[in-house]
Amino acid sequence: MAETFKNYINGAWVDSRSGASFENRNPADRDDVIGTFPQSDATDVEAAARAAAEAYKTWRLIPAPKRGDMLRAAGDILVRRKDELARAMTREMGKPVFETKGDVQEAIDTAYYAATETRRLFGYNAPSELANKVNLSFRVPIGVCGIITAWNFPMAVPSWKILPALACGNTIVYKPSEDAPHSGNLMAEVLEEAGIPAGVFNVVHGASECGAAIVEHPEIRVIGFTGSTVVGNEIASRAGAMNKKVSLEMGGKNAQIVMPDADLNLALEGALWGAFGTTGQRCTATSRLIIHEAIYDDFINRLITKAGKIKIGPGLEEGTEMGPVINEKQLKRVEEYVRIGREEDKAVCILGGDRATGSQDTANGWFFLPTIFIDVTRDMRIAREEIFGPVLSILKARDLSDAIDILNDTPYGLSSSLYTANVNDAFRAIRDIEAGITYINVPTIGAEAHMPFGGVKGTGNGHREGGWTAFDIFTEWKTVYIDYSGSLQRAQIDNY
Ligand code: NAD
Repeated sequence: MAETFKNYINGAWVDSRSGASFENRNPADRDDVIGTFPQSDATDVEAAARAAAEAYKTWRLIPAPKRGDMLRAAGDILVRRKDELARAMTREMGKPVFETKGDVQEAIDTAYYAATETRRLFGYNAPSELANKVNLSFRVPIGVCGIITAWNFPMAVPSWKILPALACGNTIVYKPSEDAPHSGNLMAEVLEEAGIPAGVFNVVHGASECGAAIVEHPEIRVIGFTGSTVVGNEIASRAGAMNKKVSLEMGGKNAQIVMPDADLNLALEGALWGAFGTTGQRCTATSRLIIHEAIYDDFINRLITKAGKIKIGPGLEEGTEMGPVINEKQLKRVEEYVRIGREEDKAVCILGGDRATGSQDTANGWFFLPTIFIDVTRDMRIAREEIFGPVLSILKARDLSDAIDILNDTPYGLSSSLYTANVNDAFRAIRDIEAGITYINVPTIGAEAHMPFGGVKGTGNGHREGGWTAFDIFTEWKTVYIDYSGSLQRAQIDNY
């Protein structure tokens, strides 16, 4: 019998008001039902938002360092439960356990980082233009935050939003992805044990209807979203009309450039990890490889040999290097892009291009082979659109300027990478690449919790998660003027 999971509202585990539910299955094994989860609608969101609004009245008044103590405790609990949580995440979303352990570790890092930030949350002061007057500005919480996330980092990505938001004194209505709902409940368990009071953190499960109800709820003042650009833009226009603060982390079409002077073994390792790590299902995945013409053929030959040996299988099995894609819909999307790639111009699919059904390990899941297209040109759809699967498009560049030009020729701007031994080229690339993140001699993936994370163009709307910039999302500025002159001093008038 499949386990029945519930929503977490006001410190209690409850079913959806309608009684509707949905099922979640292991993408590596269709017969493995993880459980059923509430299919929540606007009435459930209403209950969660009400609980969060009530809890906000007291949570905002708790001294920030005391809130930080609870976040530190959450970090300790995540450390204690790391292996168990990693295995649960692998079961629901597929990536190998060594990767889901990294996912939990990022939440641990974020918890400890947010805890220490509660002793800073710096404001600033500046001299007044008038005598006997003090000017201060400090951060204040905003209220109830609606957090809506994707499934590919079920612990790390929500933690980037939830933990800083709590540190700042906000309360939360969280909707995990319907493809990784169990992790949302695990997060609630951790925060409850850490001492976060009832109502401060709430989880409602569901799909787009539930997410839309969060976006439209008048009591929810901030929306923190991670997901596709199509959905993010829709959310931004609805929330914008209600004057909500909206932080969007959306899609990517990231590229790695390889120059002839690079350490080519390192560049090769980087390309394999960037393109096929998490089965290519990272917002920062390397989905384009831009190779200098002088090393184009040689580098491709070495890459194909290595990529063809990647061990595909269930993430829970020791030795698996690449797990399944998340679900049947995504598998079909990947297949469709392979079909488009094969039909486009002169691109050639030289590796993979099919479902990986060859072994007992993969027969029952949504597995796809590592796939490589060569001779791709920048105008092709497989060079421009986010595929979100193990598909790498390789393009040829004449020189560094041409490579950067190709890299920038995309609607997205999240991550980018350059492999070179030439320091001048590295700094030119850092200056000219249009992306929120540029790695030098590092693949396009590998963000750290204490550094700003986010992208430009179609990837984001100007906010950055990670680092102290996340605290900008979840606070407002309150400016205070204190006049101790004992007389009416009119700024801009009495002093000039
Ligand atoms: P998605 O946009 O389909 O769904 C994301 C979340 O939004 C889910 O919880 C979903 O239920 C919810 N949702 C869907 N429709 C909604 C609506 N109309 N109103 C409110 N909520 C709605 O994305 P996905 O398939 O879960 O994730 C893959 C995408 O996420 C990729 O594009 C990837 O690049 C992106 N992503 C970005 C980052 C980043 O930090 N930039 C990180 C991880 C994933």
